[in-house]
Amino acid sequence: MRQRSLRHVWHPCTQMKQHASQAVPLVPVSHAEGVWLYDFEGNRYLDGISSWWVNLFGHNHPHIRAALVDQLGRLDHVMLAGFTHQPVVELSEQLAALTGLGHAFYGSDGASATEIALKMSAHYWRNTGRPGKCRFVGLAGGYHGETVGALAVTDIAIFREAYAPLVRLAATVPSPDARAALLGESAADVAQRAADALQAWLAEHHQETAALIVEPLVQCAAGMAMHDAGYLRRVRALCDHYEVHLVVDEIATGFGRTGTMFAHQQAGIRPDFICLSKGLTGGTLPLSAVLTTDTVYEAFYDDEVARGFLHSHSYTGNPLACRAALATLALFSQNDVLANNAVLAQTLDAAFAPLTGHARIRHARRLGMIWAWDVDTVLPDFAQRYHQHAMAHGVLLRPIGNTIYAMPPYVMDEESAEHLAQGALAALQATLAEEASCHG
Ligand SMILES: *Cc1c(COP(=O)(O)O)cnc(C)c1O
Repeated sequence: MRQRSLRHVWHPCTQMKQHASQAVPLVPVSHAEGVWLYDFEGNRYLDGISSWWVNLFGHNHPHIRAALVDQLGRLDHVMLAGFTHQPVVELSEQLAALTGLGHAFYGSDGASATEIALKMSAHYWRNTGRPGKCRFVGLAGGYHGETVGALAVTDIAIFREAYAPLVRLAATVPSPDARAALLGESAADVAQRAADALQAWLAEHHQETAALIVEPLVQCAAGMAMHDAGYLRRVRALCDHYEVHLVVDEIATGFGRTGTMFAHQQAGIRPDFICLSKGLTGGTLPLSAVLTTDTVYEAFYDDEVARGFLHSHSYTGNPLACRAALATLALFSQNDVLANNAVLAQTLDAAFAPLTGHARIRHARRLGMIWAWDVDTVLPDFAQRYHQHAMAHGVLLRPIGNTIYAMPPYVMDEESAEHLAQGALAALQATLAEEASCHG
């Protein structure tokens, strides 16, 4: 399986040559159940990062699986232009009720949600007689996907360098990352400083600016950079004042990940656009949605076709994916998931205590069901070495740079919490032992 994959499969965001040696082996997975991934050799790995942040209730969840099997027998797919169906109608109703934004437009993945939100915002300003408002602003270290349009607002150096000539780059303003606190400063102080910088930028550029896009409370791809909710309140006020749309990208933070259903709710604000994906289907099928306000929707409602929103994907609103999303939302209404997670997080906090207290850890932090620890290390390939050691201990963890993080499914029990925490600590000890033998 490994060999066949390397011959014909081009793996995502991967230097394929690294897999040529046994040092970084590709892992064929045969099946998955709950929090566990199983390989063909009888090993199991605890999915400590929810398979790139998509899984919420464990793999092969019986309720989601039953909904998908039922849907397969009814309607696999129909185009959504000129047609509609029960799963997409019900999902749109439920997303409207959950977010207070009444109109849902569907895409197939997170990056397409970003594209949709940016296009919709600029087209709104065009339809309302202000075509000059067609540029975007994002945060330092922001991540909104890797298609050419989404890369414009994604501030990750390695992507920017490789694809700069293709991209119409958005402006970047300082991140409110709480780790930037100077001596005596609080997270709220850093947030105010970042908001002041945004204010200065908007004062000068608001005439050309359609929208600001932010990952609310946690910039995940930047290394789980967390910020004070006060930032989002200032941002909302500034966007109102300067007539700039506020797009919140909840692709990673949505569906309870930060402790509330959506992260922006902790700031008590109402965005103009919300991007959703990842956990939307509980981690089973690709689907994304962009939700927006009546005001935006009405600016497109017209006799003229060209004033309509010009965007489609072949699989827009796929019934199977919508059914998976409905089954996922049903799990939220059948159980008090957020309250259960608050208890589960205490269990995990206790299990992680030895890692949190390790002498080489800086900025240990948690929000909801996201844990992160920065490691003081000189190893340039810390992340890769740590990942290998974690796998050897039966846990899937993939640090971002020097930041170890855990984003487990919501169905951990005490035993799996211990397994994850012990694996995370053992992998750190093994990686630091290598550092000592390289540099000692
Ligand atoms: C993962 C992610 C995306 C991109 O989603 P894809 O499905 O990978 O295209 C966009 N924004 C945020 C905040 C993400 O975490």
